[in-house]
Amino acid sequence: MPRTARIFAAAAGTAIAVLGCSAAASVASAERLGVLADDERRQASDFSAVGGPFDPVVGRFDYGTAENRFGAARSGHVHEGQDMFAPAGTDLVAVSDAVVVEAGADAGRGNYAAVYDRQRERTYVYFHMLRPAEVRAGEKVAAGARLGALGCTGSCWGPHLHFEVHEGRDPYGPALDPLPLLRDWTGLAAPL
Ligand SMILES: [Zn+2]
Repeated sequence: MPRTARIFAAAAGTAIAVLGCSAAASVASAERLGVLADDERRQASDFSAVGGPFDPVVGRFDYGTAENRFGAARSGHVHEGQDMFAPAGTDLVAVSDAVVVEAGADAGRGNYAAVYDRQRERTYVYFHMLRPAEVRAGEKVAAGARLGALGCTGSCWGPHLHFEVHEGRDPYGPALDPLPLLRDWTGLAAPL
């Protein structure tokens, strides 16, 4: 671990203990917390994003390790989303003004929801929610509206949001790497 990362990790010990991540994830946590400090300052000074796009996870989260990245190899398929780790119960919100395309539950996705952003012509997908989504197909949601809570239902190994971005109005359409988008949205916390 680089020296600077060790210092960050020591400073961020409390948050890391809560997230219960591996050593590698702890470095990611430390980096993330370093970024958050700047973002929190920015929010305090010139927060102005009313209509989003917002991070789908409200508050502090962690991107995990390489295995949690878009495109990571999984048994028989490729990981089509970006995992975002935070405590169970953390608010999950609509990235943007959108319409709910589907919501349901199954063994793989757990409790899930997909919303379509007409402005950007993308569908955002949320897996593993703690409880059934708080929205229904056809419902319109505003940017920052709560969709449910982060959890670990379905095929899941620790509380996290599995977040996917697909082209068009289709949760099963071509998948985009969410991370560059998420990095653009970092710090744009929804005003719940
Ligand atoms: Zn995932």
